[in-house]
Amino acid sequence: MNINPTLMNISMYIMVFLYGIVIGSFLNVVICRIPRGESLVKNRSHCEECGYQLKWYDLVPVFSYIFLRGKCRKCKAVISIQHPLIEGLNGVLYIIIFAKFGLSIETLLFCLLGSALIAMSVIDFRTYEIPPGFPYFITGLGIVRLLTDLADWKEYVIGFFAVSLVLALIYWFSAGRAMGGGDVKLMAACGLLTGWKQNVLALILGCILGSIIHIIRMKLSGEGRELAMGPYLAAGVMIALLWGQPFIDWYMGLYGL
Ligand SMILES: [Zn+2]
Repeated sequence: MNINPTLMNISMYIMVFLYGIVIGSFLNVVICRIPRGESLVKNRSHCEECGYQLKWYDLVPVFSYIFLRGKCRKCKAVISIQHPLIEGLNGVLYIIIFAKFGLSIETLLFCLLGSALIAMSVIDFRTYEIPPGFPYFITGLGIVRLLTDLADWKEYVIGFFAVSLVLALIYWFSAGRAMGGGDVKLMAACGLLTGWKQNVLALILGCILGSIIHIIRMKLSGEGRELAMGPYLAAGVMIALLWGQPFIDWYMGLYGL
């Protein structure tokens, strides 16, 4: 067999991207249905305006939206740009994760983490609620990480508590005003999956991003003072995971660790 390695590589990336946009299209279902308490599997996807039941060729991620020019095939109602954006974002995220972690259990776990964080962020942004299913799902991923990397078990167990205990105290002392209970569970779950160093960095990044972007949004659009932390913490988790290691190594090096 003589397979050109470059060609092989490119086709792997295309496949990862396709997985990403297909899961991304499922994320749109999650984002729309979970806040309404609807089943994720029961009903077929349909147009919100005219009830037209979408056929398979209306459901091809990203491409259907482009071919339909963002309108329902039947009634021409505008389809939210959220759909292709979430699909594309998830596809690009999978490519970035695959490029960094290669063919590994980490890639699988981190892709699922990234997808959960995307859906959770949109829901938290809109409703100021993190549905408990998300931290539970991420905790499940964390248990798999722990079991597949038992040599480093302390990293993950400490990760579960390090940041979340501090946040739990803030939550408790502020009677839930400074911090949501969902944020506490989220950081516990992510700590179990990524280890405590990544988790601390994620919190720092999340707080910096949150304060900067929230101040800009308050200035620009008179956005209220209420702040959904979930999206910023989620961004912090992913940035720490993808690009945080050199920073962590440098910082630990200062203390000769
Ligand atoms: Zn329609």
